[in-house]
Formats: sequence, structure tokens, C-alpha cells
Amino acid sequence: MSHPLFSSFPSNRCPAWLCPACESVSLAIDASTFRYDMNRYTRMNKHHGWFDPRDYTYIFSCMVQCSRPECREVVAVSGIGFVDDIWELDVHGHPEPEYIELFQARHFYPPLPLFKTNENCPEKVKTRLTDISSLLTAHPSAAANAIRSLLEVLLDDVNVPRVVLTKSERQHFLKLHARIEDYPHLLGTHYDAFMALKHFGNAGSHDGQPIMQSHLDDACEVLEIIIQQLYHKPADISGHIARLDKAFARK
Ligand SMILES: [Zn+2]
Repeated sequence: MSHPLFSSFPSNRCPAWLCPACESVSLAIDASTFRYDMNRYTRMNKHHGWFDPRDYTYIFSCMVQCSRPECREVVAVSGIGFVDDIWELDVHGHPEPEYIELFQARHFYPPLPLFKTNENCPEKVKTRLTDISSLLTAHPSAAANAIRSLLEVLLDDVNVPRVVLTKSERQHFLKLHARIEDYPHLLGTHYDAFMALKHFGNAGSHDGQPIMQSHLDDACEVLEIIIQQLYHKPADISGHIARLDKAFARK
């Protein structure tokens, strides 16, 4: 399933986006602000016989608002629109297309959280996740680059050094690849995930394989799992312990 940031949606239905203020799935489109127009190419060519309904391209903007009364955060959204076809059977049982307009966001302000994090996730990590989120839909290769920068911070948090001393006692700055490859004992089960995200991040830095939607979805998924595991919040069992102690511990 694709990440909600990339979801296509009709103008009256908000995807499962997270509110930037309260991180709940509670944003709703303000219908009175939804506006869209055909782009120039569509306007100039839609009268031609060769123009297919699926060639329609729109530009839209709208406001969305958190529906939680105690929050009511607002977000400005803009992006593109297109026409998709759904095949239904007509009265004679023949399939015929029904065309619907769908939209896809490219920009959010303020940026949406990439996923829900818990309170153990450091602010410096959250800030970088927001940077990645703000780039993902509009500039995927820049988002890939931002993922590399986040990996450096995560490696700091599992005590992988950035600098080592050479035999001649000179400081040597490790590249991201070496920070991962040379410290599998510190990365443990996260090693493969770090390496995969590093390879993905390279796509933002070099002219390599183009980044596809499925790659972005996979990168988001792996990132979320790493972050949740690195900064998981241990269950609070202090109340249970206190009650057992009170009942049974020797006075
Ligand atoms: Zn909210």
C-alpha cells in the first residue's frame, strides 16, 4: 500500500494524512477552498480529436484542517489532478468507462509528519523526518539525499563514530558507507536496513537509477520501522511493580 502522502483522492475526500500539530489522522478538506483549473496543455488541446480524457491535467490548491476541536491546525496543500476511468456495466450489460477527477498533493505547508513517532524520538531526528516529508512528494531525489543525512544522525545515536584515528594518529572522517559497513556489531539487526537506505540515498546524489513511487514507499516503510525500533518507548509497568511490592515485598 502506498504512503498516504502519495495517495490520489477525489476533491471531497482527504487521504489518511497526519495532522502536523497532533499527529492524528484527523485532517479534512475545507471544500470552500478547493479550487482547480486545467493546465495550459489541457486547455489548448482538449478540443482536438486525438485528446484522450486521460490526458486532462489539472493544478489544484486547498486548505485542510484538523477536525479535533482542541487542535484545529490548518495546512495549505497544492498539487496536480488527472482523470481516471472506472469501468461499469451500462443498462445493456456492456462495459463503459466512467471518468472521475483525482488529485495528488505535491506540496504541504506546514509539512506533514512522515509517520507517528513516540516521545523517545529525539527532536533532531523529528526535524529531519519533517525535512524528508516536505521533499518526498515534490523532489524525490532531494528526499533521498535528506535520508542520507538522517542516517548519519541515527548512526550517532547507536554510537558509530564519525571520525577514527589512523595508525599515524591522524583523524580520518568516515564516509556513510564505512560507518555502516565497519560497525555491524553496533547496528545488529538494523544493518541490512541501514545499508538499503544508504543505497537508496545514493540515488539522490548520483545520476543513477530513477526513483519510482514504489521505491519511495519502501524507503518510508523501512525508515519507520528503524525509527520505531531505535526509539521505542518501553511499556510503563511501574504501577504494576509498585502494587506487587506493596502486597508481597518483605517490609
Ligand atoms: Zn491536529
